[in-house]
Amino acid sequence: LPAEAGPDDVVIGSGDDAAILRPPAGHDLVATTDAFVEGRHYAPAWFEAREIGARLAIANLSDFAAMAARPRWALLSIGARGEHELDALVALQDGLAEALAAEGASVVGGNLAAVDGAEWLSLTLLGETPHGRGWTRSGARAGDLLAVTGAPGRAGAGCLLARRLGAEAGATAWRPLLDAWIRPSSRVKLALALRSSDAVTAAIDVSDGFGGDLAHLCEASGLGAEIVEASWPADPLLERAAEKLDVGLEVLRFGPSDDYELILAVDPRRRAACEETARASGVSLAIVGHFTDAPGALTLVTTDGGRRALPSGGFDHFALS
Ligand SMILES: [Mg+2]
Repeated sequence: LPAEAGPDDVVIGSGDDAAILRPPAGHDLVATTDAFVEGRHYAPAWFEAREIGARLAIANLSDFAAMAARPRWALLSIGARGEHELDALVALQDGLAEALAAEGASVVGGNLAAVDGAEWLSLTLLGETPHGRGWTRSGARAGDLLAVTGAPGRAGAGCLLARRLGAEAGATAWRPLLDAWIRPSSRVKLALALRSSDAVTAAIDVSDGFGGDLAHLCEASGLGAEIVEASWPADPLLERAAEKLDVGLEVLRFGPSDDYELILAVDPRRRAACEETARASGVSLAIVGHFTDAPGALTLVTTDGGRRALPSGGFDHFALS
């Protein structure tokens, strides 16, 4: 049998009482779910309906990227108020379906419920990984390099700018930061390419914030980590945002931010293969430190050679209202 599921993977799709799915032989079934609640995970004033759907898809796809798993099938539940325009609901589902389709997944079932209060969306994503080939949070070893994709912190900064500046923020030079929040990218293709390179020993996606998610990975692996400030990718726009918002740059970089980027533990002997794969995938990837055998100790080595605990707290970027 081929390693990847084909058209026969959906035996019975939507339209019946339940879907019947067929993962390829030799593969394990992978499952994740995420819910967005209006006002808490998205603000209607800032998001087009399509963008809300796409972002929910990316949140789930990001979990698949973190496991190096291939997404296949999705189940969508929506709690919508009676006055919700049908066109907007269709646009939301289109945005979600398009983001899933870009990674080879499709909606195979769903449910629409009427609510009186806040609206919500829940997506369950199913897929597959060859036996024993998926990544976990627990595989990192002391001495492994610590890599990060993209520029974590941008989504949280964009959300904070929207809250502080209101409508002004969207039409200005801050737009790339707002886009990081509103229109994040999927890292599934990169993860599947990296899986073949055998360079990655553990992974997690940045759904809470770099510092918080790194702590989860370190806890699962029983390790600590050192971040070298000088290796962190320069981000002049984020620096300007820190000034404008009057918060420390480190708070934006390492604090709460749902960027849906990846934190990877990389076998140092496979560093070149890892970097080459990222280049070929068109995704920026930086080696920003390494893992240590000091469990739970997350240390920032500053540009002046100082050492201190990695800041990871900050603000509640979900408090949108
Ligand atoms: Mg995750």
